[in-house]
Amino acid sequence: MNVRKEIRITGIVQGVGFRPYVFRLAADRRLAGNVCNTSSGITIEIQGPRESVEDFLRLLPQNPPVLAQISGMTVSEIPCASDAPFEILPSHAEDHADTVISPDVAVCPDCLRELFDPRDRRFCYPFINCTNCGPRFSIVRGIPYDRALTSMSVFPLCADCRAEFDDPFNRRFHAQPNACWKCGPRLELWNSDGQPIECAGPIAAVVENLRRGQIAAIKGLGGFHLAVDATNESAVERLRQRKRRIEKPFAVMVADLAAARSLCEIEPEDAALLESRERPIVLLPRRPESSIARSVAPGHAELGIFLPYTPVHHLLFRDANFPALVMTSANLSEEPIAIRNCEAVARLGRIADCFLVHDREILLRCDDSVVRRSAGKLRRLRRSRGYVPAPLSLHKNLPQILAVGGELKNTVSFTRGNLAFLSQHIGDLENAETFDFFREAIAHLQQIFEISPAIIAHDLHPDYLSTKWALAQKSLPLAAVQHHHAHIASCMAENSLEGRVIGVALDGSGYGPDGCVWGGEVLVAGYESYLRAGHFSYVSLAGGEAAVREPWRVAVSYLRQAFGPDFVNLDIPFVRGLNGRKLDLLFRMIDRRINSPLTSSCGRLFDAVSALVGLRREVSYEAQAAIELEMAARESCDSASYPFSILRKEGPWQIDWTPLMHAIVQDIRSNVSIGTISRRFHSGLADAVKGLAFILREEWSLNRVCLTGGSFQNVVLSQSVEAKLRQEGFEVFTHSIVPAGDGGLSLGQALVAAHSNLV
Ligand code: ZN
Ligand code: ZN
Ligand code: FE
Repeated sequence: MNVRKEIRITGIVQGVGFRPYVFRLAADRRLAGNVCNTSSGITIEIQGPRESVEDFLRLLPQNPPVLAQISGMTVSEIPCASDAPFEILPSHAEDHADTVISPDVAVCPDCLRELFDPRDRRFCYPFINCTNCGPRFSIVRGIPYDRALTSMSVFPLCADCRAEFDDPFNRRFHAQPNACWKCGPRLELWNSDGQPIECAGPIAAVVENLRRGQIAAIKGLGGFHLAVDATNESAVERLRQRKRRIEKPFAVMVADLAAARSLCEIEPEDAALLESRERPIVLLPRRPESSIARSVAPGHAELGIFLPYTPVHHLLFRDANFPALVMTSANLSEEPIAIRNCEAVARLGRIADCFLVHDREILLRCDDSVVRRSAGKLRRLRRSRGYVPAPLSLHKNLPQILAVGGELKNTVSFTRGNLAFLSQHIGDLENAETFDFFREAIAHLQQIFEISPAIIAHDLHPDYLSTKWALAQKSLPLAAVQHHHAHIASCMAENSLEGRVIGVALDGSGYGPDGCVWGGEVLVAGYESYLRAGHFSYVSLAGGEAAVREPWRVAVSYLRQAFGPDFVNLDIPFVRGLNGRKLDLLFRMIDRRINSPLTSSCGRLFDAVSALVGLRREVSYEAQAAIELEMAARESCDSASYPFSILRKEGPWQIDWTPLMHAIVQDIRSNVSIGTISRRFHSGLADAVKGLAFILREEWSLNRVCLTGGSFQNVVLSQSVEAKLRQEGFEVFTHSIVPAGDGGLSLGQALVAAHSNLV
């Protein structure tokens, strides 16, 4: 007896080879019916003997294509119909409202084998791909995901590629970016003026240039990289000078896992991350004896490494005899990554000696993702290429919202149903180019997800460019969300929490409604509202932004407040090294409250300690002082911790750092090592957080703690806080999917807006 069943599947099931997978499963069992793409995913009708149909249903979720992600599957029995052989029905243009586009994917093992097989027709073809791999997100112009709406539309398929594309049994069936030597994109080598260079093979020529110490701009998946031989000190130095990037570490690409092991300590889980199809940059402890040039990551105990993920990368390493390449986003300082050939030459002509370009357009720039493992969990520090635009599943449905994020490390988020779509890393919205990218990303994502937001959520800070953009969108209701409230909501959302939690948000700065710069905050918070339950004691941020670049200023502020004006007589190197004239100027600013807002920032406290112990008086990139202080702490196993006091007169609890300052100065005078001081500082901070959580547990009967904010990207701090809280029986929640820092802010903004009175 025949039966017919209808199966509806949702998730990432379009453009990933799902229909041919279903087709093969049905054809192997001689079943009738059809499969087609619909507005919510895929619908299958399957007909045949009951056992065969049951068998089909059992196998269906077991071996889906590698890029597919099934998020829901329903089965219902329907009346029998035609028993003609199973077929794939064409999709309708209007049936795509809820589709999800796959992220860009590293070249797969099958394609890699063909790439290096001299008998294969794609031998050494730099753009080989299939249904299981290759570009997706970065080449999409609109939906449905069809070649005509990608940047592959200008390359008509040749007869061979067309045959593969049409054959349900072929690995390239409906592989939209399918291409070969005959019909697809090509590489070219250009000089720094953008003039093509005659050469037998562009790859071999670039390798030769790199070997000679030149800087090459290489067009990749989500943008250009600047590449140099990572073992060539003078080449790396030259790149730093030309790119105007003084000390911020560069990421390094290595040929394979073996090469990675020669540079870093790699646990099996790290190896899996490095080889995952998302191919993120993984931060790993470096081996001191590695051959990497010193200036690749000065002052860092870690190295960011990643493996080749495009055919071009693999071809480069096959021809090269250097173990590692610096591969850094091709931009000047903090501008967005370059994606267009002419744009690259115009912007990077003074940096790169040559350009390896191709004619497959990148439509959406997407930087490399950065991750690390800590406390047994994957932490995404920058969630971008490979992860975006895969949605995050929320524990409930939300209205359609656009959240525009913060100012630094900006991302934006869209919500639709129970899905949240976080954008790729957009960057620091401080220059016109990044702001253009911000607007471009919003428009593009809105188009490919087909979302028309009912609300725009933004940060409370009136001067953030993201806020200004939101305020200019006159037609939609706006939800202004406090920075640290958004951080906590983001952590709650990622952990599917409801109700209220003790939210510990530690970071550099966020706008406080009291006119101060918040940054060391403990909020009793739910999505609807928050109460500021405690914070670090305020200190003067003398010089505002200048104080962020020059930690010595903040250190002076802390000392003066802790010791009074007599701190100038303290016999420690930091105080002895102060310039009297600059100091007077600073005092006058603080006393007259000129450009000296009060701050409870956790980041500034790290800066101050870093300056005090003699690590960093000035920084050349964000959080440098704090990062170097953390690196120092890793060298010590000291178990003592510095005291903080927790007190309250009126209003919120204060975490007072006066006792901490006294203890640090004492230790400096006793010649205690920087590593030990730093370790004691980290433990003391963790004790203070625990102490306040204790008080709030009693006051509010809450036992769940969310740890969030950029300071929790500090591994020593986050591990210490987490361990101490768990020891006391707290339920602790942290970030893994979205960044703890401002890159995760937009998600929290969306959740808060969804619970506002606008809904
Ligand atoms: Zn492939
Ligand atoms: Zn072809
Ligand atoms: Fe923040």
